[in-house]
Amino acid sequence: MLTSWVVMPTCLPLIVRRCHACASERLRANGKFRVNAHHKLLDAWLLALCTECGATAKLPVLERVNVRSVRPALLARLHDNDPGLAAELLRDPVVRRRERIALDWDGAWRLETGAPNDLDREVIDVEVRFAARIPVRPCCSSPGVARFRGPRSSG
Ligand SMILES: [Zn+2]
Repeated sequence: MLTSWVVMPTCLPLIVRRCHACASERLRANGKFRVNAHHKLLDAWLLALCTECGATAKLPVLERVNVRSVRPALLARLHDNDPGLAAELLRDPVVRRRERIALDWDGAWRLETGAPNDLDREVIDVEVRFAARIPVRPCCSSPGVARFRGPRSSG
């Protein structure tokens, strides 16, 4: 019988980027956005705070975009500080490449194994689904014990 495990995000991953105010290399997005309107042009940023000194960093979401070309649904999500939008942006490889950031998933995911009644069997067949692109892989540190671990960061 095939058992399904799921790798689930539990919160936003840390952003790996040098703080502009201190030597820290980890920023924490709290799901907040800042939107600025200048005439018909919009700027929007995802805000992130340095985990050491609390300095605010801004990751551009929209830059000098005509307000008419912004989907109303996106604008509403920006104004509502939609945490789902923050997660989507951080998981977007285009955004990560453009902003030269990587993600640190340590402590930001869990492995859902469901009911533990299979664990006393010697062999179990497991399929692992990923609810988000979280770069973890199985590692077997002792016989019969499979665990999952994530790298320190991902690009
Ligand atoms: Zn800092």
